[in-house]
Amino acid sequence: MRFINAKFVKSATKVGEFVNDELPQVAIVGRSNVGKSSLINMLTNNSKLAKTSRTPGRTRLVNYFNINNQFYLVDLPGYGFNQAGRTIASGWDKIMDDYFSSNHTLKLVLLLLDCRIGATALDKLMLDYLAEHDYPALIVLTKTDKISKSELNAQIQKISADIRYAKNRIVSTSASKKQGVENVATALDEFLK
Ligand code: GDP
Repeated sequence: MRFINAKFVKSATKVGEFVNDELPQVAIVGRSNVGKSSLINMLTNNSKLAKTSRTPGRTRLVNYFNINNQFYLVDLPGYGFNQAGRTIASGWDKIMDDYFSSNHTLKLVLLLLDCRIGATALDKLMLDYLAEHDYPALIVLTKTDKISKSELNAQIQKISADIRYAKNRIVSTSASKKQGVENVATALDEFLK
């Protein structure tokens, strides 16, 4: 697939505002600051679609983007920080639980990991949560421009072993270098067909 036509649809702040029509949904989750907005902007080739920010945890919204009238890309709040930007031990917001428990067309979750950091304790909680609920996940490594190719290969190996995900379920991206769009697109084809 290609991201030909991407449109912002709406931001939801609570359950009653979630989109629940027949189109499949692909959710994006990750720690605040992992590069979620930058990835969305790269995939959709629109530098302004998702707001990037240097202040972690400010938005607690579920943002819906309609892609080619084919599926919704759903941007969930970054976890690991509360609204004041402080780390919270409890993990993620209630709105995230609400989203997962009220969604019937969720096909895939893209879980973003900074390629240098790998999976944090919260990411592992999220992976367990997804596995428990039978949601398939694809691991998207971000900021790959920050390390060399050989370091990246070593990191992929390490992360794959750490979270017990096969390497073909881990894709690499760099929003700064606009690399990896096709890696994500190919994986999406698999899950949306
Ligand atoms: P979000 O909080 O997950 O939405 O993260 P953002 O997309 O706002 O990015 C957080 C910070 O990381 C910003 O300063 C971005 O410029 C930076 N960033 C995001 N993606 C990349 C990338 O691929 N390479 C580099 N070098 N920096 C990135």
